[in-house]
Amino acid sequence: MEQTERQAVGRFAPTPSGELHAGNILCALLSYLSVKQKGGKYIVRIEDLDAVRCPRSAGERMLSVLRAFGLSGDDEPLWQSERTGAYDEKIAVLQQNARLYPCYCSRAELHAAEAPRTKDGGVIYAGTCKRLSVAARAAAEKMRKPCLRIEVPDTEICFTDGLQGDVRQNLAHACGDFILRRSDGVYAYQLAVVADDGDSGVTEVVRGDDLLYSTPRQIWLGNLLGYRAPAYYHIPLVCDAAGRKLSKSEGDGITRWLNRETPQRILGTLGFAAGILSQDRAATLEELTALFSWEKVPRKHIRLPREYCE
Ligand code: GLU
Repeated sequence: MEQTERQAVGRFAPTPSGELHAGNILCALLSYLSVKQKGGKYIVRIEDLDAVRCPRSAGERMLSVLRAFGLSGDDEPLWQSERTGAYDEKIAVLQQNARLYPCYCSRAELHAAEAPRTKDGGVIYAGTCKRLSVAARAAAEKMRKPCLRIEVPDTEICFTDGLQGDVRQNLAHACGDFILRRSDGVYAYQLAVVADDGDSGVTEVVRGDDLLYSTPRQIWLGNLLGYRAPAYYHIPLVCDAAGRKLSKSEGDGITRWLNRETPQRILGTLGFAAGILSQDRAATLEELTALFSWEKVPRKHIRLPREYCE
């Protein structure tokens, strides 16, 4: 019941490490439509934690593209690079109700051939630094700066994704103790995303299904920080007309398309690809909002109906 009292808040949270492509715009569009249909608020957050990979100018460029589509958010955007103080506070809270510990393992040690892998290509941490003696820790401290990990429980986290259905994951088996802050002091995505969604009162998260595997971690962390879990909708990745996955780095950037067609024409094509429109034609955000339903969105593959990049 409480759920219905909260204002619906949806978000789009791109990392400005390249140019937005049609799949990113579709993700922004579905976040927008889903929350607007509930009369809610749509916000944009620029995930620029890594200052080297994500210069401010790249975030600004993303915002100007989103603005062209009317998808740049109801409020001023949030920049993760400006939220370090908030992340420090979350660490202090987590210190109280979980076990956090410094980890001195090098990249090479972590990625040793025999290290068990997570399904999304990471490494399942063996907990080596959790068991360091005081002397070993002091010695390691002299060699390198540690990252900060959180110990995960050997229990299953379950949730129902609005598009992908039931998901169950044992954190200890699936990912192991994970990183909250890197050794260079930069906060990890897993912490920042939970802190930001929680502090912004986000009630629904719409994003690519490549992040489905991270979600149990985030639900668990959110719970420790006292946030109510949002609803999740993990959308399939978008392919071009030939079936190739779109990529930020392979010339799939949306500006080439925007130079040739109006934003409404592009939104209509994306709406058609996502099953919301029955024809590939121009459409406004209002029109798409009225027609939107999660029932119509494909679970497995979204394929653009025509080429746009030649
Ligand atoms: N910043 C992530 C990306 O661009 C998305 C994070 C999220 O939506 O939780 O892939």
